[in-house]
Amino acid sequence: MEQKKNTGTLAVVEEQRREKTDSGNAEISKGILEVQNLSAWYGKTLAIKNISMSIRSKAIMAIIGPSGCGKSTFIRCLNRMHEVSHGGRTEGCVMLDGKDIYARDTDPVVIRRRIGMVFQKPAPFPMMSVFDNVSAGLKLTRLWGRHWELEEVVERSLRQAALWDEVKDKLHQSGASLSGGQQQRLCIARAIAVEPEIILLDEPCSALDPASTLKIEDLMRNLVTQYSIVIVTHNMQQAARVSDMAGFFLADQDRAGILIEYGKTSQLFTNPKDKRTEDYITGRFG
Ligand code: ADP
Repeated sequence: MEQKKNTGTLAVVEEQRREKTDSGNAEISKGILEVQNLSAWYGKTLAIKNISMSIRSKAIMAIIGPSGCGKSTFIRCLNRMHEVSHGGRTEGCVMLDGKDIYARDTDPVVIRRRIGMVFQKPAPFPMMSVFDNVSAGLKLTRLWGRHWELEEVVERSLRQAALWDEVKDKLHQSGASLSGGQQQRLCIARAIAVEPEIILLDEPCSALDPASTLKIEDLMRNLVTQYSIVIVTHNMQQAARVSDMAGFFLADQDRAGILIEYGKTSQLFTNPKDKRTEDYITGRFG
């Protein structure tokens, strides 16, 4: 039998987390997104090359790898945000419920409602109140005749984002008046309000202090009971702590991002299939 490779403290941290959470999530459910031979360019520059990956429903998939290996580009392709970048172009398929999100008759606005995104720097609309920040997407995507319905959704979204208790008396203050961690949870509430199926998080904690980071990680573990989550993180302890699945990216000799391997987080961190993954998670490079 193959020996478990020693990947040090990360493996221990991850094993401890799994002991805590696996009981409720023993079997990770089926794929919600099937990525098939996905490549993406900025103009003539190939940024990610031929990525194929199955993203499970109601699970957290962490995308890890050194800076510049295409992690952000990859998740921006998952909800058709990449094509709004200058020169952004893709090839390949991303199947959502068996239908390619890049099919000609697919509306990217609908895709971005079904697959929401939260960015690295918390970016509430600064001129809008907390309430209006949460309801902004709703007002764009639906016709809301009754204010009380909107109030209900705003409260529910803020509760799900673990922010309600902190802001319930400040709903009409500017979103920009909140702390960094609160602003990031406000952006998560805004993403949740339109009832997406999948939430993409692009390094959501990189601008936050450790306490706010832990709050977002706890929040992710709660949200995953209802949503499927893909998170880009350069923080491997974070990937080990929060994710069920993980994918390791690396830039190849042409500087295009490739997927080295993906699988259950426990397997990837304790017994990686590829030597390059092992070198990365044991801190030999990156
Ligand atoms: P990561 O998230 O892993 O740091 P990115 O997806 O941001 O990597 O970048 C992958 C590659 O694409 C890098 O070489 C980067 O310079 C390039 N890139 C990213 N954004 C743009 C852009 N808007 N225009 C041109 N090149 C870009």
